[in-house]
Amino acid sequence: MDVFRGCIMQVHRRLVFLLSVLLLSACGGKMIRKRASAEHIRAQMEKLSPVELTCDLSKLSDQEMETLKLLVKAARCTDTLFLKQVYGRNLDMLVELKKSTLPEDTLALAFFRVMFGPWNRLDGNKPFLNDRPKPAEADFYPEGMTKEEFESWIKAHPDARNAFESNFTVIRRQNSALAAIPYSRFYQDQILTMSELLNQAARRTADPSLKAYLESRAQALLTDDYYDSDMKWMDLAGDIEVVIGPYEVYEDRLLGYKAAFESFVCLVDHEASSKLQEIVSCLDAMENALPMPQELKRFSRGKFSPIKVVNLVYSAGETKAGVQTAAFNLPNDERVRESKGSKKVMLKNVMRAKFEKCWIPIVREALSEKDLNRVSFDAYFNEVVMHEVSHGLGPGKIAVAGVQTTVNKALKDLYSTVEECKADVLGVLNTQFLIDRGILAKPLENVLYATMLGGMFRSIRFGIDEAHGGGVAIQLNYYLDQGASKREPDGRFSVDDARMKQSVRNLASELLILEAKGDYDGAKAFVQKYRNLRPDVSSVLEKLKNVPVDILPMYPIERDLDSH
Ligand code: ZN
Repeated sequence: MDVFRGCIMQVHRRLVFLLSVLLLSACGGKMIRKRASAEHIRAQMEKLSPVELTCDLSKLSDQEMETLKLLVKAARCTDTLFLKQVYGRNLDMLVELKKSTLPEDTLALAFFRVMFGPWNRLDGNKPFLNDRPKPAEADFYPEGMTKEEFESWIKAHPDARNAFESNFTVIRRQNSALAAIPYSRFYQDQILTMSELLNQAARRTADPSLKAYLESRAQALLTDDYYDSDMKWMDLAGDIEVVIGPYEVYEDRLLGYKAAFESFVCLVDHEASSKLQEIVSCLDAMENALPMPQELKRFSRGKFSPIKVVNLVYSAGETKAGVQTAAFNLPNDERVRESKGSKKVMLKNVMRAKFEKCWIPIVREALSEKDLNRVSFDAYFNEVVMHEVSHGLGPGKIAVAGVQTTVNKALKDLYSTVEECKADVLGVLNTQFLIDRGILAKPLENVLYATMLGGMFRSIRFGIDEAHGGGVAIQLNYYLDQGASKREPDGRFSVDDARMKQSVRNLASELLILEAKGDYDGAKAFVQKYRNLRPDVSSVLEKLKNVPVDILPMYPIERDLDSH
């Protein structure tokens, strides 16, 4: 997990170090003036369960193994880049923590690396070093710049709009003006290193689709134009799946324009991937079988989107900060989505680690003895996949009182809760559908409902105000009211498979009709009735206080690189 151990980074690291020493002695001040207590930081660290993420690399040829290592080296650069993007003083703080002889700073340093800065991403970004709130502008904009200042600058300089709103520029003050500086220039050192490593990997690999992508991406990093390489990423067809570059804009909490660097280096599970493709190819059949009036259904779901199952070999940058990504859907460029759709990538070994470390301990407290023997990783994995697939089923464009609109617009603030609930419920309904048609294996039926019920307690653990948790509270209470699940004398919950099967169907039908009619008042009454935490459920949640909230991944390949 060491952010800066790569040998490529050594020269740069020394430079940063020297510069920081000079700067620190010049202003005579320390970056860190206040620390949360060691006990506090330790308790926060313990919310993450360390796990070694393994992946079988034995089938890779020596040539592809070398390619993979070059990609991991390139990926490491995104750690440094993201650290810079989060906060302009992060690198200086890191240097100070590393030099510190205070015992509590060893712990603070470890936590700083996990959080990519002095703010706790697991606890509303509260600072654990100093007491400065996390700046919404991150390091993408000048410190303290407001949204109004940005907008009035663009108003006065309309020609600058594209550069200012670009996902790939940082904004800086230059005298009394604002300037947009391309990432390729602003982060030149790391960008050049990454680009060169990607070119080396492109020369090494025997996979033509990977070679084409890497060459294009190496060029994109230098030009800030990612379109062609995003297109080529959609065509990857070999064993190695890699994402590297600036992608998501969540870290820019001021304006949501600026993309953060991240990377995923993965190995494709071809067998599991083709199984998922088979499921996706049944979309119209699943739509046709939905429990709702035929005339409300929609078919021909537009562009075909590939779905891949992979095992993660290494991750870096934004995705590694705080809670770990279990699946992603890229690219974000609408032009690519228009012509090629988007690719869903499921990180199977990440999901297995989360299942073992965070999911099983919850289910042990939540499920009755008989049902505890009926949960499986495969059912959990399938549930996540089917949830994603089911977002694409059911009403989308609708008419309310003769006016064309969308479910999203009609259900307004309730939409995300209803839609997340729908995706869960249709996920289970469609799993049963695929089992009945022999597309998914019959033994899955025996673990399907118990696994679903157990997992609900994980989802509501973080609150029911958020859409996913709220959607799950609705399901749980609905199923309890229909007698599909009940509380046993020991306080745990059991499931009646036959009743549950029917109850899932009933709930699916209610949700689909609310969506199809765009019935806001109906949705409001429905959500109010079911989205609550009952005392029997709360008493299970009480017992989960010490269960880790997520995993802290460690990557064996990193040790491998460092030993050379
Ligand atoms: Zn969802």
